[in-house]
Amino acid sequence: MSRLLVIGGSDAGVTAALRAREVDPSLEVTMILADQYPNFSICGLPFFLSGEVDDWHDLAHRKADEIAAQGIQLLPGRASTGIDMRAHTVTARDESGVDAALRYDALVVATGARASRSGIEGTDLAGVHTLHTIDDGLSVRKRLNAGSVEHAVVIGSGYIGVEMADALARRRIPVLLLGRSPTVLPTVDPSLGALIQEELERNGIEVRSGTTVRAIAAAGARLEVVGDNGFSRRTDLVIVAGGVEPNSSLAADAGLATGLRKALVVDRQMRTNVPGVFAAGDCVETWHRLLQRPTYLPLGTTAHKQGRVAGEAAAGGDRAFQGSLGTQVVKVFDLAVARTGLRDDEATAAGFTPFTVETASWHHKAYYPGAQRLRTRVTADLRTGRLLGAQMVGHWQAEVAKRIDVFATGLFHAMTVDALNDLDLSYTPPMGAPWDAVQEAAQTWLAAVRSRRN
Ligand SMILES: Cc1cc2nc3c(=O)[nH]c(=O)nc-3n(C[C@H](O)[C@H](O)[C@H](O)COP(=O)(O)OP(=O)(O)OC[C@H]3O[C@@H](n4cnc5c(N)ncnc54)[C@H](O)[C@@H]3O)c2cc1C
Repeated sequence: MSRLLVIGGSDAGVTAALRAREVDPSLEVTMILADQYPNFSICGLPFFLSGEVDDWHDLAHRKADEIAAQGIQLLPGRASTGIDMRAHTVTARDESGVDAALRYDALVVATGARASRSGIEGTDLAGVHTLHTIDDGLSVRKRLNAGSVEHAVVIGSGYIGVEMADALARRRIPVLLLGRSPTVLPTVDPSLGALIQEELERNGIEVRSGTTVRAIAAAGARLEVVGDNGFSRRTDLVIVAGGVEPNSSLAADAGLATGLRKALVVDRQMRTNVPGVFAAGDCVETWHRLLQRPTYLPLGTTAHKQGRVAGEAAAGGDRAFQGSLGTQVVKVFDLAVARTGLRDDEATAAGFTPFTVETASWHHKAYYPGAQRLRTRVTADLRTGRLLGAQMVGHWQAEVAKRIDVFATGLFHAMTVDALNDLDLSYTPPMGAPWDAVQEAAQTWLAAVRSRRN
């Protein structure tokens, strides 16, 4: 019987193991993971910390026994400390320090990412936390429950930073959100970032953009966060949300090639440079469907898709990863903000001739109670009319995610803005309009191009 070994038990690893067993039920599949939380949704940590999700056990996508019921042997609490590519063995160290060599015929590396400390000094001090693992979440929650946090600083105003600012504010903790970029959420254009900043401030968050933090120091029982231009602030709790780095050193040391930001190099079947060894998720480069080249885009949605392809390939199938568009959505208090594809500056850098137009519309017919405003930015190529990207902000119950997914589908199929207008989208006054907000934005873009040309 052929043995598949998977290193990593989160989104990519579990999906790979499940798919491999589906494709070849005769495969003997073993999954080792360094922690005790197979298939937990770390994406849910901000909602656990806010108190919206009360019990961390509820963050499991699947329970361990459901995974085992699929014929997968789960070995939690086993950190791989080495891979011998010639002997086809992985060294797994248990929590008491005992090593075992596990043999494989095929291997999937799904070791994910680790939180970046952004070169800030003092991130190892008590009271300073990153947020990437369930254990990280449990230690922040313990600190919050102890009741001694009267003020918090969140460093990093990307999506995890804004989610954490929201989470802490829900616990009535005053928060300072610090970001290096000129506006919050630099993954969207500044005009939409400004709306998110207003929403944060409306909910009592102090926002300070354009500030680079250099160090955190102990200040008696408190902490002092120190940054550029004389910035300094005393606080009780610091969350460092400065992005992630691929957790690729184990595999790189064993001979797997690395590329962008030291992420593992894979082809579209998630094959590495070593035959029989596959890799997926936050530890690998991601094929960008629009750019037609590898990028680094660590997202849970992508990790699931890549894991499935890796599992299929490891079991002898031949599906290819179809590429990411960087589609994402985040909820910030009452707003949702989403994007897919390229922003104007990214499209220019990629050699397109982009033109971006912003549209304000209602999320359903304005006469029906509860209509909310949407702001949509469409980026498309002036020469070909091809859609290149879209961004949207609106009330979190105004179907922002659904609408960005319509754009993402259009991008996936290389549609023009004109063609978006022809889509047969649903309509009833309490939920939309005869021309959906997506199509209104497409029409505004087309009209702006016409008036530019006249
Ligand atoms: C707070 C937060 C919110 C997020 N929100 C979203 C969201 O809303 N939408 C979205 O798409 N994405 C979101 N993400 C990103 C998403 O969670 C990740 O992209 C996804 O978890 C990546 O999955 P992965 O399996 O590649 O790696 P990881 O989840 O990082 O898991 C890595 C696995 O490898 C194991 N491992 C590591 N090293 C070893 C070793 N040496 N030996 C054995 N096992 C090892 C770990 O124990 C773990 O099981 C969020 C992330 C965070 C932290």
